[in-house]
Amino acid sequence: MAKHSAIFLDRDGTIIEDNGYISNTSDVIFYPHIFKALELLQKHFLLFIITNQSGISKGLISESDVQGVNTFITETLKAKGIAIFDTFYCPHKNEDNCNCKKPKPYFIKKAAQLYNVDLTSSFIIGDHPSDVECGINAGVTPIYLLSGHGKKHQDELCFNSTVCKDLSYASKFIMSTL
Ligand SMILES: [Mg+2]
Ligand SMILES: [Zn+2]
Repeated sequence: MAKHSAIFLDRDGTIIEDNGYISNTSDVIFYPHIFKALELLQKHFLLFIITNQSGISKGLISESDVQGVNTFITETLKAKGIAIFDTFYCPHKNEDNCNCKKPKPYFIKKAAQLYNVDLTSSFIIGDHPSDVECGINAGVTPIYLLSGHGKKHQDELCFNSTVCKDLSYASKFIMSTL
């Protein structure tokens, strides 16, 4: 069976505004440009969301809060014709030394197994240096965004990465590479 290419999307600062630990769906604010961008990308790629949600381990939000917000996001996208194939979240904080927190490639590798994804033709897009590092660790091409916290952390980037203003620019860049 032919393998699929995938886009691994960060959530906060990439698809929605990063407003800290979100527990309520009413606090979800989509960037308006993401709908067209994801519509374009899903023509060639399976879309996944991978998000670090350390607020769970810190006791600031509950696991069901995060699941509720994630479901709200995927259902909103679905209503606009955009399919997110799976959403993965790490509930841990750094001190937990877990297997799954980005920059660890755990969820990318899991998705690759579950959905028959070819990593070499896949991308990760996010607004934190750990997203870029996660991509390097997994063997997918990273794209660093200046939306969300991207501008603030740009000088902490330790790996070469394409840098784009936001998901809209990233989608056009990716399509130009095909
Ligand atoms: Mg982010
Ligand atoms: Zn974890």
